[in-house]
Amino acid sequence: MAETLDSLLAESRDKLKAAGIEAAALDARHLVSGLLGLSRAALVTRGGEPVGEADAARIRAAIERRAAHEPVHRILGEREFFGLNLKLSKDTLEPRPDSETLVDCLIPHVRRIAARKGSCRIIDLGTGTGAICLALLNAVLDARGLGTDISDNALQTARENARRNGLAERFETLRSNWFEAVEGRFDVIVSNPPYIRSSVIAELDPEVKYHDPVAALDGGDEGLDAYRAIALHASRHLETDGLLGLEIGFDQKQAVTALFEAQGFRLLSGVKDLGGNDRVLVFEQDVE
Ligand code: GLN
Repeated sequence: MAETLDSLLAESRDKLKAAGIEAAALDARHLVSGLLGLSRAALVTRGGEPVGEADAARIRAAIERRAAHEPVHRILGEREFFGLNLKLSKDTLEPRPDSETLVDCLIPHVRRIAARKGSCRIIDLGTGTGAICLALLNAVLDARGLGTDISDNALQTARENARRNGLAERFETLRSNWFEAVEGRFDVIVSNPPYIRSSVIAELDPEVKYHDPVAALDGGDEGLDAYRAIALHASRHLETDGLLGLEIGFDQKQAVTALFEAQGFRLLSGVKDLGGNDRVLVFEQDVE
């Protein structure tokens, strides 16, 4: 007898549950809808319909991967971020809702600068999928962005994401270790650098430690290496009236603020994420 969507969904959910996946039912629906290109509503209304053998095999393979703790979006190869559809690759961090907080609080600034100057030049250090920069470009038509990364593969993914979302004309990439290969000044510097302490990487969830690139997570002994590298050269690359926006670890507000204050920056705002943790810092230059 042919299997139905309902029976495959139930089987998938049970397999994930047995493997200890917490959101088993949700993940099963997400994977099945993603693989079949159906909306989550269609899963319900079409639950009695038969599923072909090839589709059933694809679904079972995906469920196996999820049961082994590969994240849903890694399996699907893409995810939504701030209204954009982004491709993921092994060299890119999976964009998190936490980083949407950073985008959210920078949009008004980018808009204001673009309105005043006719354009706003953004640099995104360690751009990965391009998520943060592309979301800003998507929100503000007069903005242009440069995404840097140490990984050529990540830059290729970022460029593809720019094309996918119709933003390629305003987005460029540059291979660079933080500011090393960067020239010129920008209106907005943004970064979600690696900020996890090296010693705690081993304690992260398998979804993170085995599937996000370690280079995008590991911030050195104190988790501050990238902020130090950025702080050292930021003022040379920021317009006098420009802004610098950073994602930070939940316990890094004081340390990161101190690093940037020592280089002539002043904290303009600190923003918490949806979980109530300090997550975003926005700095301006302390010019007399
Ligand atoms: N927020 C990520 C995590 O929870 C870390 C991202 C980063 O280091 N920039 O794993």
